[in-house]
Amino acid sequence: MSAAEKSRIPIRERMDGSDTILQMAYSHRDASTRRQHHPSRSEADELPDPMIEVVIPEVEIHEHPPRTPERFLMTTSRLNPAVLLTTLLFLTPACAGQSMAPASGAAPAPRGTPAETTDFSASRALDHVQRLVEMGPRPVGSLGHDRMRDYILAELKKYGLKILRDDFQATTPLGEKSMTNIIGILPGVEEGFMMVAGHYDTKYFKSGVFVGANDGGSSTAALLEIARTMAQQAGKPKHTTWFVFLDGEEAFCWDWYECLNGKDHTYGSRHLAEKMVRDGTIRMARALVLIDMIGDKDLGLDREIGYSTPSITDIIWETAESLGYGLHFLPSGQSVADDHVPFLENGLPAVDLIDFRYPYWHTVQDTVDKVSGDSMKIVGDVVIKSLAAIYDGTAARKR
Ligand SMILES: [Zn+2]
Repeated sequence: MSAAEKSRIPIRERMDGSDTILQMAYSHRDASTRRQHHPSRSEADELPDPMIEVVIPEVEIHEHPPRTPERFLMTTSRLNPAVLLTTLLFLTPACAGQSMAPASGAAPAPRGTPAETTDFSASRALDHVQRLVEMGPRPVGSLGHDRMRDYILAELKKYGLKILRDDFQATTPLGEKSMTNIIGILPGVEEGFMMVAGHYDTKYFKSGVFVGANDGGSSTAALLEIARTMAQQAGKPKHTTWFVFLDGEEAFCWDWYECLNGKDHTYGSRHLAEKMVRDGTIRMARALVLIDMIGDKDLGLDREIGYSTPSITDIIWETAESLGYGLHFLPSGQSVADDHVPFLENGLPAVDLIDFRYPYWHTVQDTVDKVSGDSMKIVGDVVIKSLAAIYDGTAARKR
């Protein structure tokens, strides 16, 4: 089946050997080398220890089934019953092509004068996407990927952030690959920290030129602009923030669960979460906010209900409403396995903000003309404005 054909199948499913989860892509909306990096002296000087040396070729991996409604129905028995019920409720409207049921009975908050937004620049974010796309396809191991990694490092340096590099090797269906998570750190008064994350790799295509303007591009661009915006704010923030550019989110095989026993994906987040557990840094982390595919001109985020911490989702949705962005933060829910899962599995509260209604997902049509700086600003503003409340709300969590 061609990539284009696959993209039109309404149900996207991601499932592994232990847990399942499905995702609903809403087809009714018109469709639907190994090279180890050696840091330069100046880079290396900036790198705090625990993160640098690391490099553990520890990731074992594996593959997955066709994205069909039948497959979805076959696997639903493995879902959490509450999630399953909610998800099935949404299946009908998605297939019928219209509105969604609310994920909860809560009435929308009254709309008042929108709160002040942030200095997040829509045009800067879009400019980042343009530059990334001009680097060409950016899958792990590609020249475009290396250029992008260096671009991210240079930008974070410009913003005055401390930079951590987490270089590691991963075994993939295409062999051993060098990957790099990049972390920009904005120190706060308190040691406890928030993580804002997104993946920067783009999906490997055997044929066709996939530049991932939204999938890979928008999360990278928005994360850079969130980092710049927060770094330039006056005064030292209460909490420390990690801006985490995750590598290797995409599966090398076509489908998410197709290879390596369902673990041919989220290489970077799994590596980082495990490392943070080993070196103890995860104990200082309060929560992770993940962004993925948030640049669609027609921005519509469903609540990620399969894994994400509901109380964090609530804070984000309420913040969006207060900023006047409520129309883009939908009451409906869907379940999406993504880079937040490895952190959740290690006890860190997390949320995934993903617009999975993007009709050009994993197609060569995922180009810069489909992406909007305003959409990235909406999500960027909401994330920036939500962090303090999420931090405070997770202060008492048990570790
Ligand atoms: Zn993708």
